[in-house]
Amino acid sequence: MQQVSHPTVILGGGFAGLFTALHLSQQNYSHPIILIEQRDRFSFKPLLYELLSGELHSEQVYPRYKELLAGSKVSFVQDTVQSINLNERRVNTASGQVFDYSNLVLALGSKTTYFNTAGATEYTMPFTSGEEAIALRKHLRHRLHQAIQTPNSEHRRLLLSVAVIGAGPAGIELACTLADLLPIWYDELGGDGSEIRIVLVNRSREILKGDVNTHLRCTAQRAMKNRVIPVDFLFDAAVTKITSNGVEYQRYDQTQMLQAGTIVWTAGTTPHPLLMELPVSQNRGRLLVTPTLQLPDFPEVFAAGDCATASDHPQPPTAQVAYQQGIAIAQNLQLIKQSKPTIPVQIQMRGTLMKLGLNEGVANLFNKVQIKGQPGHLIREGTYLQLLPNSVHNRKITTEWLTDELFQRHRSVTPMQLGQTPWLSGVATAAAALILATPLVWRAAQPMQFQRSLIWTGVPTLLDHLAPPSR
Ligand SMILES: Cc1cc2nc3c(=O)[nH]c(=O)nc-3n(C[C@H](O)[C@H](O)[C@H](O)COP(=O)(O)OP(=O)(O)OC[C@H]3O[C@@H](n4cnc5c(N)ncnc54)[C@H](O)[C@@H]3O)c2cc1C
Repeated sequence: MQQVSHPTVILGGGFAGLFTALHLSQQNYSHPIILIEQRDRFSFKPLLYELLSGELHSEQVYPRYKELLAGSKVSFVQDTVQSINLNERRVNTASGQVFDYSNLVLALGSKTTYFNTAGATEYTMPFTSGEEAIALRKHLRHRLHQAIQTPNSEHRRLLLSVAVIGAGPAGIELACTLADLLPIWYDELGGDGSEIRIVLVNRSREILKGDVNTHLRCTAQRAMKNRVIPVDFLFDAAVTKITSNGVEYQRYDQTQMLQAGTIVWTAGTTPHPLLMELPVSQNRGRLLVTPTLQLPDFPEVFAAGDCATASDHPQPPTAQVAYQQGIAIAQNLQLIKQSKPTIPVQIQMRGTLMKLGLNEGVANLFNKVQIKGQPGHLIREGTYLQLLPNSVHNRKITTEWLTDELFQRHRSVTPMQLGQTPWLSGVATAAAALILATPLVWRAAQPMQFQRSLIWTGVPTLLDHLAPPSR
């Protein structure tokens, strides 16, 4: 009797899942591939601030899966995974569909946690997806419109105050973005931008605690003070309750209240609850995987990204790790189909990138060099745009972005609005030109070394698109 061959099923279309699917498709994987994802669009999370501000638009950082996967061999199923049975090799979804698999990839990411803080789910806004970034933009615009029509200065102050809870990378990047952006939006309505208040609330005194960006602490702290509106810090504040117009917190044994018309929660994530129920080893809810990213007791199952961790080489929950793991899983699935042994995954962590305001960022290369300001911003966005899934989409977007950067054509925000002079704009253009010229010279002189050293940044691919090397 002929054996039924089930498809390879991927759960979650984030960095780990989507890139597994795309790489399988690209390498002509001979088996059917099914990607199950609850949303209809992919959120490129490191660039959500740009979606909020309008520096990049939704086709760039919040594209539809239908478009990303057009022409690929991946069958996309928009549905919510409800249960996973590892023993029966079966997945059930909310709409009642049942999927049997030969291989499974668990890439469901993580969820926001509120640490049981009263009122947090009702009155704070999360910031983890394109949908949430757009909702926050609408909410902030609405608050500014309300404020401009409010003669009562106390009420206006409430409407114009934003509390960002959590001083991890997302909280800091968001606070910096809002501290530049909101005064511009409010000025456009005829308001006084200096009335805006952005407050970063954190339980401890340390920012970026336990994060891969810890050594960027001083740079981040300085950047927060140098925004259009300096970011206010409220540290050593343990949030106890959220209400419709403020944050209650305990500080030095006293309960106090911070009034705010907008409260954004970036304070914590927890592993996906569905995976915590699985009968496999876990470390703080993240699935423990072998160096080849397989579950030790179920080698037909791979797990990656925020929902998994290797016991010997734990990796931080970041997009750059999840993306590389996706590629590695695709290679290992291909090896399995060829009846070859799977190989351990090598993750290259060569640096980190942070957004520190509009047109400002920091690129921390090899943990040795920090490139700050507008050059840091250009490296950050250029690097991330190279990681956008689907090469055609990616090439078009990168070229559009480069043109925007060089000619300062942002639609929602311009350098003049940011208070920059034409001279500063010229410096920015010169910096961009320098950033492009230096690698061109390096590539021409030492092509192999150039490729090896910079491949992780996306710069070689970017240059190959924009200025193909002469053969
Ligand atoms: C605001 C923000 C900024 C960030 N900035 C950076 C950065 O600058 N650099 C960096 O390296 N990392 C950054 N990160 C972290 C990075 O985005 C994550 O580490 C990365 O997305 C993890 O990838 P993943 O595939 O594991 O999970 P995700 O990308 O979260 O993907 C999980 C997917 O599973 C889907 N899903 C969940 N549950 C179900 C279900 N039951 N059924 C079907 N589908 C489901 C979700 O919709 C989602 O699409 C940032 C994160 C945030 C929130």
